[in-house]
Amino acid sequence: MISLEQIREEMLKWNRFIIMGHVDPDGDCIGSLFALKWYLDSLNKSSLVLLTEELAEKYTVLGIEENDYRLFADYPLSAREDTCYIALDAGNPERLGEGAQIADKVFLINIDHHVDNPLYGRLNYVNPEKAAVGEIIYDLISLDKDYQMDRKVATAVAAAIISDTGAFRYQNTSAGVFRIMAELMKAGIDVYAINRAMFSNYRYSALKLLGEALSTLKVSADGKIAHLRVEQRMLEETGAELNDTSGLVNYARDLSGVEVGISFIEVDEKTIRVSFRSNEYCPVNEVAAFFGGGGHPRAAGCTIEETIDQAEEMVLQKVKEYV
Ligand code: 5GP
Ligand code: MN
Repeated sequence: MISLEQIREEMLKWNRFIIMGHVDPDGDCIGSLFALKWYLDSLNKSSLVLLTEELAEKYTVLGIEENDYRLFADYPLSAREDTCYIALDAGNPERLGEGAQIADKVFLINIDHHVDNPLYGRLNYVNPEKAAVGEIIYDLISLDKDYQMDRKVATAVAAAIISDTGAFRYQNTSAGVFRIMAELMKAGIDVYAINRAMFSNYRYSALKLLGEALSTLKVSADGKIAHLRVEQRMLEETGAELNDTSGLVNYARDLSGVEVGISFIEVDEKTIRVSFRSNEYCPVNEVAAFFGGGGHPRAAGCTIEETIDQAEEMVLQKVKEYV
C-alpha cells in the first residue's frame, strides 16, 4: 500500500473534489468528510461533500453550511475526468450508496480503517490500526507544515475520533488518539460540547424509544449474548426516527457479563438492520460478514431481508458459535 505522503501528493495534483462517505453515516464519517473538505477549502481547491441522507441534528455542533454538501438524490452524479473522488470510512464500494455507481469509473482515493476493505480505489490508504478515519485525516493534514489547523477543522476531526472511540472507552483508544486530542484542544475545540452532541442531547421521542427498546432486552448463552429490538410500531408510537436507533446496541453490550450485544431494527417488514458490538474477543465483523455485512472486530453490522423474528433467530444461532 502507498504511504499517506503519496496520497497527499497525488491528491494535491487535483483542483476539483467530490468527497463521499457511507450510508447511515456516523460521527467518524461526517467529521472526516467535512474536516477534509474544509482543509481543501483552505487551499482554494473546489470540493463538495455528497451525502446519502440528510445530516442528523447532532452534527449542528460542527457548523456545516448549506453549500458544503449535497445529497446524492439532488445531485447529477457523473464520472468526471476533471475530478478527484475521495471515499472516506466506506469499507466496501456498496457502502457508498449511490456513489457505488461511479466508484470503478473515476479516479477514486479510498481512505479507510476497516480491516476487510477490498482496496476498491485507484489509490488506497487503509489502516486498521487507526481508531477512526478522522485520525487518518488528521495525519494527512498534518503533513502540510504550512497549515495552521483552525477550530472548525479541529472540531470535525475530534467528533470523528470521539465517535469511533466511544469517547475514548473502546479498545481502539490509543496513545496516538490522546496526542491528537491534545493538539485539537490547543486549536480550541470544546470537548464537552462535542461529547454532548454525539452521545446525549436526546429528543423526548428518542428517549422514549430507548425505554421501549430496553424493555425488549433479552439475554442468552449463559448471559454472554444480549439483544434488543426496535419494531416499526415503536417508532410510530414514540414518534422517534430511524436514526434515533443508533447507539441502542451499546446498552446490550454494556450489560455486565455480556460479550456480544446485538440490536435488531425493523426498517420495514422484511428489512432488518442488525448491529453487533463485542467486548473482549468475539470478532463480530466475521458474524456480520456471514450475513453479507462487515465492520470492525468490536463493531459491525448487516442487513437481513427477513422478518425481525427470523432475523433474530438466525443471528442468535450464529453468534452462539462464537461465545
Ligand atoms: P453500526 O452498527 O453502527 O451500523 O455499524 C457498526 C460498524 O459496522 C460500522 O462502523 C461499519 O464499519 C460496519 N457496518 C455496519 N453495517 C455494515 C454493512 O452493512 N456492511 C459492512 N461492510 N459494514 C457494515
Ligand atoms: Mn470509522
